[in-house]
Amino acid sequence: MKIFKIAIVGAGPAGYFAAQALQNLQSDETAFAIDMFERLPTPWGLVRSGVAPDHPKIKTVSKVFEKIANSERFRLIGNVEVGRDVMISTLQDRYDAVVIAVGTPHGRSLGIPGEGLKNVISSADFVYWYNGHPDYQNLDIDLTGTKAIVIGAGNVAMDVGRMLALDPKELDKTDTSEIALRRLHQSSIRDVSIVARRGAEHAAFTAPELRELPDLESIDVTMKVDDITSAISRAGTEPEKHVKSNLEAMRLISETPAKGVSRELEFLFQHKPIAINGSDRVESITFETPEGEVTKECDLLVTAIGYKPHALEELTVDGNHYRNQDGEISNGLYVVGWAKRGPSGVIGTNKSDAADVMKSLVAKLGDPKTSQDLLLELNKPGVVIVDQAGWNRINMKEVENGEAREKPRVKFLEIQEMLEIAGSE
Ligand code: NAP
Repeated sequence: MKIFKIAIVGAGPAGYFAAQALQNLQSDETAFAIDMFERLPTPWGLVRSGVAPDHPKIKTVSKVFEKIANSERFRLIGNVEVGRDVMISTLQDRYDAVVIAVGTPHGRSLGIPGEGLKNVISSADFVYWYNGHPDYQNLDIDLTGTKAIVIGAGNVAMDVGRMLALDPKELDKTDTSEIALRRLHQSSIRDVSIVARRGAEHAAFTAPELRELPDLESIDVTMKVDDITSAISRAGTEPEKHVKSNLEAMRLISETPAKGVSRELEFLFQHKPIAINGSDRVESITFETPEGEVTKECDLLVTAIGYKPHALEELTVDGNHYRNQDGEISNGLYVVGWAKRGPSGVIGTNKSDAADVMKSLVAKLGDPKTSQDLLLELNKPGVVIVDQAGWNRINMKEVENGEAREKPRVKFLEIQEMLEIAGSE
């Protein structure tokens, strides 16, 4: 039997689905030994650090990831950063193929004046903060004002808007970072606006996320009836299916009577941001609208306008992804997920996407390389590897710490703490 060694860089959904696709392509003649590299001691990528804590159902896909990880010839090599602890060229030397699955972790910027003002924050940082990503727990965010504006009309803007507007009591039973949860309990933000630069017919929200909004007990979710009826007429008689369901969900929201609670989540359309104003911190934002310029006061501004990749060695960033041709970067080097196609689609989108790329990867394999196990070399000062057993210990301890408080888990927020648990037999 030929056993090919494959390195997957990044333990998020795209990485796991690539591993699963490879496992499914095994036969009596061919097998794959998969090493999954992850820079954090904890895997699962956006399922741990991106999905909103009040959407626990979406996180159940982690069970699938653990099944993949516990299959034969799979190793998690956590707390090892590719590009720092080991280079892509070394991986290419030791493995039959290398698959980049590192996502697109940085927020795009608006490119308008005032973006550098205090309390103008990217969703990339804010989402990592409330989800307990260890690198973002000291986020400089001030929640003492009353008004927050979120720029963008995608599901991330909606997650951010909900997290800011919700009564934090509703987050007590979730796995929100303990630091963020404490801060959200002290927050005086009550009016949150999600602002789209185009009409509702162009919004990138998805219907299931919109449909749940009227059921949020602690928030009055508002949309102007005129905004939605004009969008419905602009969309014409045969809008695409997703536009039709979105507009239907928005029509229901716009027609739902206010509950009269103290928290509001307002949606504004056709407001294109042109300047952020303030002396040292954000005080207001100016929009171009069909009626002319409009300035809205705000104490906090979060931009949720998409993501871009980080600079990784020699890889060429092409807009919002790494340059590639159908997932192939160069001979033996592949890319999957958001790093391949940009930040779009839901978690499941990565499954078919990764399966296609892995099929062409496998089709191009020759004979397996005979190379030394990279783990032997990685065992050097300054590198502490968290393997699957170490991660299992972190995972179990987090779940155990959550049990007494009826939470799915209480996340460790410091890497050192995670390493201590991982290393304790
Ligand atoms: P997205 O869906 O691409 O939405 C980005 C939004 O930013 C768009 O409304 C876009 O408007 C707006 N935008 C871009 N540049 C702008 C600018 N200069 N000024 C004002 N607005 C600007 O991206 P996302 O919300 O980051 O989500 C990424 C992916 O993750 C999406 O596929 C999303 O569905 C998915 N996701 C899913 C869930 C879930 O299933 N619950 C949760 C979170 C994320 P234009 O259309 O006008 O460019």
